[in-house]
Amino acid sequence: MIPLKTPAEIERMRRASKIVAEILFELAEVVKPGVTTGYLNAVAEKEIRRRGAVSAFKGYKPFDDDLPFPGVICTSVNEQVVHGIPSERVVLKQGDIVSIDLGVICEGYCGDAATTLPVGKIRKEARRLLQVTEQSLWEGILRCRQPFRLHDISAAVQCNAESHGFSVVRKYFGHGIGKAMHEEPAVPNFGEPGTGPRLEPGMVLAIEPMINEGVADTEVLDDRWTVTTADGKLSAHFEHTVAITERGLEVLSRL
Ligand code: MG
Repeated sequence: MIPLKTPAEIERMRRASKIVAEILFELAEVVKPGVTTGYLNAVAEKEIRRRGAVSAFKGYKPFDDDLPFPGVICTSVNEQVVHGIPSERVVLKQGDIVSIDLGVICEGYCGDAATTLPVGKIRKEARRLLQVTEQSLWEGILRCRQPFRLHDISAAVQCNAESHGFSVVRKYFGHGIGKAMHEEPAVPNFGEPGTGPRLEPGMVLAIEPMINEGVADTEVLDDRWTVTTADGKLSAHFEHTVAITERGLEVLSRL
C-alpha cells in the first residue's frame, strides 16, 4: 500500500521541502573552487537549525549494522554517484561537478531534494550530463499525475537519459516520502511504461534520477557510504519532492 497524505500533511511537507529548496539555493552560491564539502555541510547545518528544522540524514542508518551517516548533506564529487560524506579534506576544484543532496524534517514531515552543480567552468560533456539529468528528472515529474502509473515516471526518466547516450543507475531508487524519508513505493529510474500502481492524489514521491556518463554499474567505497561509478566516469543526481494533488502535481521542493 502506498500511503496517501491529507492536504494538511502535504502543507507540512510543503514547508519542509521549501526549507530544503532554500538551503540548496544558498549552497549553490557557496560552491566554488577552493571550498570544501565539509564547509558546505557546516553552512547547511547552520541553515537547517536557523529554520527550526532537523536533518533527515545525520545519524541515518538504513540497517542496524550500518554506520550512521555523519553529514546533514551528501556531497558526491565527479565519479561519486550518491551518499558522499562531506569532509574538510575534500576541496572542490575548477572543473569538478558536485551533487548535493539534502533532507530535512520539519513539524514531523520530511522534504528531500538534490542538485548537481558545476565548480567553476566545466567541460562540455559534463555540462551535457547535468542538463540531461535535470531534464530526465522533469520528464519524470511531468508524469506525476493521473492517469499515469508509477513506472510511467520511471520510463520517462530512462528514455530521456538513454536517448542522450547516458546510462541509468539501477541499484538506487527514488521513493515515497512523508513522516519517514523513505516510504513506499520505490521509484525506479527505469521501467516499463503503463505498469505499476496507478498514481493518486495524496501520493508524495521523491523522484531522483542518478545518471552516468559511462556504465550504469556502481561500487561502494570503504567508507561504506560513498557510491561511485564502476568505470570512474562522471555521474549526476537531481531530485525533487513531488505531491500528486487533485489539480495535478506540485513540486514541493522548488522555490
Ligand atoms: Mg531521496
